[in-house]
Amino acid sequence: MSQLKRIDTLVIGSGPGGYAAAVRSAQLGMKTIVVERGQIGGVCTNVGCIPSKSLIAEAHRYNLHRQWNHAVASASFEEAQAFKQAVVNKQAGGVHYLLRSAGVTILEGEASLIDQHTVVVKGSETEQLISFKYAILATGSRPIELQALPFGDRILSSTEALSLSQLPTSLVVIGGGYIGVELGQMFAKFGTKVTIFEGGEQVLPGFEADLTAPVVRQLNADGVTIITGAKAVKAEQDMDGLTLHYLKNDEQHLVRAEYALVTVGRKPNTDGSLRLDRIGLPTTSRGLIETDEQCRTAIPHIFAIGDISNGPALAHKASYEAKVAAEAIAGEPSAVEYKAIPLVVFSEPELASVGLTETECKARAIPAVIGKSSFTINGRALALKAAEGFVKVVADPASGIVIGGQIVGAEASTLISELALAIEMGAAVEDLAMTIHPHPTMGEVIMEAAGNAAKKHDEIN
Ligand code: FAD
Repeated sequence: MSQLKRIDTLVIGSGPGGYAAAVRSAQLGMKTIVVERGQIGGVCTNVGCIPSKSLIAEAHRYNLHRQWNHAVASASFEEAQAFKQAVVNKQAGGVHYLLRSAGVTILEGEASLIDQHTVVVKGSETEQLISFKYAILATGSRPIELQALPFGDRILSSTEALSLSQLPTSLVVIGGGYIGVELGQMFAKFGTKVTIFEGGEQVLPGFEADLTAPVVRQLNADGVTIITGAKAVKAEQDMDGLTLHYLKNDEQHLVRAEYALVTVGRKPNTDGSLRLDRIGLPTTSRGLIETDEQCRTAIPHIFAIGDISNGPALAHKASYEAKVAAEAIAGEPSAVEYKAIPLVVFSEPELASVGLTETECKARAIPAVIGKSSFTINGRALALKAAEGFVKVVADPASGIVIGGQIVGAEASTLISELALAIEMGAAVEDLAMTIHPHPTMGEVIMEAAGNAAKKHDEIN
């Protein structure tokens, strides 16, 4: 084992939480090491956000070519995989560059806590003891495995599905959350026969039904079959594929497919080699680590961020917490404020939400006025042949302050930032309505929805 190394901040995991925390810590003058047992950039860069969005973008391009009857090479999916890998490599290179230029030391290996100030990092041939003043745990999450459908061979997690070298002829997706819908639609656009099974009443549970309706319509148009209220019970694998047995309305049914993709959620990496038991740090029943508003755990010099702490498992939530944790270590008064975390589904059409929804306001008896406007007569949307969808702005009736917003339609992933900024800044619907938006753009629909909310606010006051 190499000699004990002493540092200020140890970061475990180099995903969007870990690398952002390490960079900020080093920028603030702390001697910082980031430890990574897999690939720099974590899930998001290597097997999550970036590869999925690259393949989704390629699937859209492929589909457009097909619609225009352009000759499409049979190798399109393989070409898309090559494109995806090039994007991933570039992004991972960018993360390396950011860490190096901030002066962060990167250590390859698996970190196990020894005590509250020491960790051992086991590399392929080396073992290194590190003594730290502060630690930021950012070990992320992994796909949940179903006991009835264990991963292997033809039962894939999102990681394997994103790396298939050949396009499957048919695919059953178990779990209609955002990962299942995004990947299911991507494969369908390439030509795979896709069936999505969802245990609840609708795909994309958590989003309001009026928002998911245009996505469901497009999924159906892409040839995706959606079976809701269904529970997969077992899968029998053979040479050509698998037979999935599922229950619906208490009756057992069968479906054949080449592969099954299980996307039923993710499990925090707080068990196993990390050895939280050695430092006496508890986890919740879901394996999450409880933190305060500075991402500090019950052990004051140890912080936890990203998928292993409470809140949505999203890359931008992880990197937001990263800055707060590093700044808290440096003694700055940073604290998290979760009221404006955007949620995006990169489906066609895209779906995005930030802050409160109309349904949440009703359920929690929070007074709200809603302003709605659709893309149907928006010039830019018409020009883009993307006139389906709408914007909803949710505002406090007394002050007119924006408390939420939802968008379904093309570019929703980009447009939602305007509503996030409005919430963050405490802007009123009048501010959005009076802001000059360039014409013709999809953003004008936000201005109109805000204008409609402003009329209701005026009427009330
Ligand atoms: P991770 O990115 O999971 O990184 C944790 C890292 O820690 C890993 O690299 C792991 O190897 C390392 N590690 C774990 N234990 C140890 C140890 N003991 N020692 C050393 N290293 C260790 N989010 C979005 O916001 N937008 C999206 O569009 C989006 N799309 C997604 C698509 C898919 C298919 C998937 C699977 C996820 C997607 N996500 C998306 C979620 C996003 O990837 C995660 O929320 C994000 O990566 C979490 O960041 P993190 O830093 O907490 O951990």
